[in-house]
Amino acid sequence: MTIQAYESSLAFAKKLDEDDPLRPFRGQFHLPVQKDGTPYLYLCGNSLGLQPKPTRIQIEQELQDWQNYGVEGHFHAKLPWMPYHEFLTEAMAEVVGAKPIEVVVMNTLTVNLHLMMVSFYRPTDKRHKILIEYDAFPSDKYAVASQIRFHGYDPAESLIEMKAREGEECLRMEDIQQVIEEQGDEIALIMFGNPNYYTGQFFNMKQIAEWGHAKGCMVGFDCAHGAGNRPLHLHESGIDFAVWCTYKYLNSGPGSLAGCFVHERHAHDKTMPRFEGWWGHNKETRFGMRDGFEPIPGVEAWQLSNPPILSMAAVKASLDIFAQAGIENLRKKSIQLTGFLEYLVNALKDDRIKIITPTNPDERGCQLSIQVRNADKSLYEQITAKGVIADWREPDVIRVAPVPLYNTFEEVYRFVEILKASLNS
Ligand SMILES: *Cc1c(COP(=O)(O)O)cnc(C)c1O
Repeated sequence: MTIQAYESSLAFAKKLDEDDPLRPFRGQFHLPVQKDGTPYLYLCGNSLGLQPKPTRIQIEQELQDWQNYGVEGHFHAKLPWMPYHEFLTEAMAEVVGAKPIEVVVMNTLTVNLHLMMVSFYRPTDKRHKILIEYDAFPSDKYAVASQIRFHGYDPAESLIEMKAREGEECLRMEDIQQVIEEQGDEIALIMFGNPNYYTGQFFNMKQIAEWGHAKGCMVGFDCAHGAGNRPLHLHESGIDFAVWCTYKYLNSGPGSLAGCFVHERHAHDKTMPRFEGWWGHNKETRFGMRDGFEPIPGVEAWQLSNPPILSMAAVKASLDIFAQAGIENLRKKSIQLTGFLEYLVNALKDDRIKIITPTNPDERGCQLSIQVRNADKSLYEQITAKGVIADWREPDVIRVAPVPLYNTFEEVYRFVEILKASLNS
């Protein structure tokens, strides 16, 4: 589907929905409803994904097994709790494009980011800097700055926050390359959000990893806004590590567990320093409780605790849906759906509006960040009052994320009609 083929009409949107092979998946989600019973236009999966209908059943199964078996559920539950995280690995690896040995579900996102930096940010006086986007998510900025201070360095000197050029919102790859070229010898870690949560810009991880590795830097990404949004090809990208949450595009519920990727090349490195806990220890002897720490090969070695099964059940329910739909199929629809949104917003020909997300689909996921000049939050409140759930970022950006699993072309059309009416009121 090329952009020229779009039309700005409700009939056209409905036609696209009829032709959409993924359409039935919408029926697997609970859609929040307004007072009159009609569903909201929920375009906020970038913040909190909707609840899959099977989630309740999966969690109730664990409650039932706990009720029936008590501690024996570790072995006798329908899905035994002892190896429970392993039931998630394959589907998660598929979603992020990794090998099973490279992926684990554990902890929460910022926790995993810190655990990764314990291993992959080991500053020396010659090489102590971290490179991050200026517009990075606040938690990531706090995490990197506090790691720098923890090692006795000063973020004022050791943190490079990369800004877009004057008058631009997104970073240019050639500028990233230049910073790595010029300061790479002093950079210990390159750590970007991918896509950036604010602009929706998706970075070519393979390219950045090549530049970084050529200079001896470690390269990691926070894929909170990437996982479940678009294929990531983490293994192929060659990056050292990645972290992501499961409550955004991965629909696993508020504050649910996070994912972690460590590239296979580090899987058997016994010299790797890390914070250790019993869940990272050799499964055969874990309950021996005596032996020195013997890491499980691969990313599972970073596990600390026995995991919260109720949250894992929610992750399981969600990943089952991803396995049915297929991340590449979702991506195909997503490119169309977001392209349609872009087309309709541009067709408004309102010069107050600027989409700050890159126009090239390769450089974005499903989210578009729509900047409205001279707007304030009242615009967003008007849109909300008309039944849209999206996301406002100060000073003047509405983030809209049509999610291919549960959003429709008709919803995208109706959203833009509401935006138009609110802009002109
Ligand atoms: C959502 C998000 C977070 C949130 O971190 P939690 O530890 O899950 O609270 C952090 N970083 C990025 C880039 C995010 O998008």
